Amino acid sequence: MGGSIGGMITAAYLSKYFKRITIIESDDVVSDTLLKSTPQDILDYRCRLESPTSLGRSGVSQIYQLHVLEGEGYNILIELFPHLKDKLLNTYGVRTYSLKTELRFEANGQLLNKNLTEDLFWLCIDRFTLEIVLRQELCIKFPDKIEWKSNSRVTNLIADRPMNIVKGVTYRCKHNVGSPSCDLYGDFIVDCTGRNSSSTKWLKEEFDLIVPTEQMHYGGGYVTFIGERFKTGDPIIDSMAIGGCTVNAPTRNTGIYVSPIRTIKTTGDNSSGILSTLGCHCVNSEFPPSDSYENLLEWAKDYLPSEYYTMLKSTKVIGPLVPYRRAINERKFVKSLGNKWPQNFILLGDTLCTFNPQYGQGMTHACRLARELNKIFNENYHQLKDISYIFNRRASPISEGCWLVSTANDWKTPTLKVIKTDQNGKVQVYQRDNDSTTNTNSTDSKMQTPLMIRFLQWYNFWFLQCASKSGRMSTDFLRVINQHSSPFSLLKPNNLLAVCHAAFMSYFH
Ligand SMILES: Cc1cc2nc3c(=O)[nH]c(=O)nc-3n(C[C@H](O)[C@H](O)[C@H](O)COP(=O)(O)OP(=O)(O)OC[C@H]3O[C@@H](n4cnc5c(N)ncnc54)[C@H](O)[C@@H]3O)c2cc1C
Repeated sequence: MGGSIGGMITAAYLSKYFKRITIIESDDVVSDTLLKSTPQDILDYRCRLESPTSLGRSGVSQIYQLHVLEGEGYNILIELFPHLKDKLLNTYGVRTYSLKTELRFEANGQLLNKNLTEDLFWLCIDRFTLEIVLRQELCIKFPDKIEWKSNSRVTNLIADRPMNIVKGVTYRCKHNVGSPSCDLYGDFIVDCTGRNSSSTKWLKEEFDLIVPTEQMHYGGGYVTFIGERFKTGDPIIDSMAIGGCTVNAPTRNTGIYVSPIRTIKTTGDNSSGILSTLGCHCVNSEFPPSDSYENLLEWAKDYLPSEYYTMLKSTKVIGPLVPYRRAINERKFVKSLGNKWPQNFILLGDTLCTFNPQYGQGMTHACRLARELNKIFNENYHQLKDISYIFNRRASPISEGCWLVSTANDWKTPTLKVIKTDQNGKVQVYQRDNDSTTNTNSTDSKMQTPLMIRFLQWYNFWFLQCASKSGRMSTDFLRVINQHSSPFSLLKPNNLLAVCHAAFMSYFH
């Protein structure tokens, strides 16, 4: 269910174990318009249309927003589609960028040290192009095994409640209004329908199962556009191909990222020769304006470090300013349901866990979950009926790492709202209003930042102070950001010593 990043990567991995795979996708994603589009067509659509809805693609509302593909996600794509890199490099003007020489990145107010001890690379591409090219590759590689039912929306699960098994799904073709719904049975069903998945509703209706969830509303927003960057005359800014600064709540609730997407033939002496996506973002509902570039520039002058204002001033905008204001963190604690979880059915990608996009984790998280599922099938000794429980158990630490990376900072948002639903359906809503916290729904205790998160915030602060002076610690940090290493690797003894030393020296002074 769902034929975007998560659905496609899962289908590619599972093609080894199943005779036939059907992807049910609510948008018309395998139309000739999208599937046969040339690199130039894709760029034209991206720069000319306010959204891809007119092309039949409306199901991923963030598709035009700035996306970075973290290193581990890139490794997974290349493992599955070995020719993808050459194709993108040779036909799409896409490049890989070295984080050692082409990145300038300020995390929580600290600039990472340039002297990395290991070079890491990013494939810089816009999300719209990546998705279309991946789909083309999938169709070429598995023409017979993977069948697409596009323009078809899943409307429910087919459940065998006494046996606790999901046996299939009901879907309806979107083209014909009033058309009857169809049933499709399958041995294993994966929900990759993204952040607005209806699975929790279906599980309640069909199995009377309540999935415990946690939502964090931190007032996240984006405005993304494509621009051609021109030289500013400042070598520091001009040498930065990829980079930006994160928010640093509560003192600075706004940030910006810049990521190249294609090299182009230059239109002027001063052009950088690359098109980039530029994304201004915020927490605490301090949204960047999207009504005009002049207003965005005014906003940048007040809300971003001055070098980014300089960069934006010398950027030629190509295409619409696209806003996004619905970002939240949401996690479904499926592991805690143990054997109550139905057999032969899993949630994967954003359906399982959605993160603050400012940490760029979502696509790589989906790829890593799909790879874990592949490992479970590959181990060969599990029975099909056990795979959903095993997956829920093994997916949990993957989601947990990303969840901590996102939420540790989001807990600092002055107007944070947290909504928790437990296994019995009891909902608790906590709203922080600057310094005070109210629990709007029950007699329970007030919202407290969990002890673990408070420790991580403290540790992160001192870690980044040290990393700004240390190439080794900056490398460790970037390995976590790229999902090559777990966030807990930052606690290894030499880092812990450096952090404690820096903190104690500061307290003594
Ligand atoms: C503003 C923003 C910026 C982001 N930036 C980054 C970034 O820099 N790096 C990064 O890695 N991630 C980023 N993300 C997250 C990333 O977009 C998601 O993690 C990723 O798209 C998840 O992929 P998915 O396949 O799980 O879900 P989705 O991409 O949401 O795909 C769901 C698919 O299911 C289909 N569908 C939905 N309902 C049904 C149904 N009932 N029946 C059939 N089909 C259905 C949809 O049409 C869609 O194709 C960002 C997100 C946002 C909001």
